[in-house]
Amino acid sequence: MAGRRYFRILDKSERWYEAVLSDRLEDAQKLVADRLKNAEWDNNGRFVTSTEQPAKVRAFGGHDRLYRFVYCITNRTALTRNEVVRHRCHNRRCVNPEHLVVGSQQENVLDERDRRANGVDYELI
Ligand SMILES: [Zn+2]
Repeated sequence: MAGRRYFRILDKSERWYEAVLSDRLEDAQKLVADRLKNAEWDNNGRFVTSTEQPAKVRAFGGHDRLYRFVYCITNRTALTRNEVVRHRCHNRRCVNPEHLVVGSQQENVLDERDRRANGVDYELI
């Protein structure tokens, strides 16, 4: 059988990111730069979008949350659906590449607990 062989089946998210990273990387980097240009620094050094919910991106035949897209393109990584992009600043509207790290669902829950324990919920202000 000719063509590419995989040792495991890629999920939809990975397939999309792999295709974008290999075929449309420059366009994707330009899209990220454009979207980051529209974000604003808030008082806590976060780079937030003006949307109420985490912003989304729809391009190259797929779609995802903008912060996941920023992470994947910036780090040239194709994430699976099971991999969670965590916000070190605890603000899901933030798209600052330096605040984004990959983790498990479990770590994401701990982040949320930590954020609540810190008292101030900036999303409610
Ligand atoms: Zn942030």
